[in-house]
Amino acid sequence: MTIELQQLTKQFGQLTAVDAIDLEVGDGEVLCLLGPSGCGKTTTLRMIAGLEWATGGEIKLAGRVVNHLAARERNVAMSFQFYALYPSLSVAENLAYPLYAEGLSGAQIKHKVAQVARVLQLDSILNRLPGQLAEGEKQRVAVGRSIIREPNCFLFDEPLSRLDVTLREEMRGEIKEVLQGLKRATVIVTHDQLEALTMADRIAVMRAGVIEQVASPHDIFQMPENLFVAGFIGTPGMNLVSATLTDFGQNNVGTFAVEGGQTLTIAVDPAVGRLERGARVTLGIRPRNLEIVHESVADGLSSVIDMIEPMGAETLAHLNDGMHDIRVVTDWRAPLEEGDHVHVRFLPGVTHVFDAHEQAVRS
Ligand code: ATP
Repeated sequence: MTIELQQLTKQFGQLTAVDAIDLEVGDGEVLCLLGPSGCGKTTTLRMIAGLEWATGGEIKLAGRVVNHLAARERNVAMSFQFYALYPSLSVAENLAYPLYAEGLSGAQIKHKVAQVARVLQLDSILNRLPGQLAEGEKQRVAVGRSIIREPNCFLFDEPLSRLDVTLREEMRGEIKEVLQGLKRATVIVTHDQLEALTMADRIAVMRAGVIEQVASPHDIFQMPENLFVAGFIGTPGMNLVSATLTDFGQNNVGTFAVEGGQTLTIAVDPAVGRLERGARVTLGIRPRNLEIVHESVADGLSSVIDMIEPMGAETLAHLNDGMHDIRVVTDWRAPLEEGDHVHVRFLPGVTHVFDAHEQAVRS
């Protein structure tokens, strides 16, 4: 079953929380809504669930408009976190709980519990209490409880936000596996990019009620369509350098006058050749795509090392070219000293160029 949003809008008085968004979640697809606090993720999810009325646009589930249906008529499972098990009930009873209100016979309930337990591999722990379970098992029981009524699709709001960091890491992989097994359209709201990058088939990045880009985790990271997505995804964040295109020649080599006075000559996307000479651009490069060298190079900027932050296997160096803070991730063995005058070289083929409208210039 698919979820389709067409021009979906929510206004709270003067405030447009969700602004005419279009989005489609395919059957069996896991889509993460990712964005900063207040961008409209939860409101979007609540409109799909029927907990909030849309003020404009359409919500279609399996091709049918459901705007007018109440939450319980939509057969959508919405959960706010994966952990909310009743501690005094066994795994089997926790799983069966949502069915008690449905008027099913004892035999029918037993059958459904067995079915879900099989899918989620809970057969051997059905008689245990939540306190006796490993964290991963608890998670699977909680998922089991939201799927036992066989909803058409799943909606999760910040499902891992209450977990500590170690557990979150463990759960991300596990949940992905479980969700893939369910073969239902699933929407997960998160503000945690790692969660989105690891769990989603596709990510929709939102800002101020608008969807900025929808793409696979790989494409969101490697091919951000605009400056916002580029800066939002990736830790440490992408370096952004203001510049003017002064020349473009053979092998797609562009020459840029970087704000602050230096000149940078690097190969970029062929589409950059279509920009006017003198066009203002922003160059974007990820901290792992820069190299610190000691001699001056045409494809680099001379800078001073401001600060060195050890990160275990890698070192994060903050450099300054006089105008920009430039972050470089290097091997921990690199002999760097704060105050050193160095050059930071842009590795070939990995510089993004954004135009004056903050859109990626790409062929
Ligand atoms: P967060 O991660 O902080 O929950 P979010 O992306 O989920 O953020 P929403 O909760 O959807 O954002 O909120 C979007 C905007 O709508 C915010 O400016 C919020 O203050 C506003 N908003 C949400 N619910 C209401 C409401 N019931 N009445 C008025 N304004 C609301």
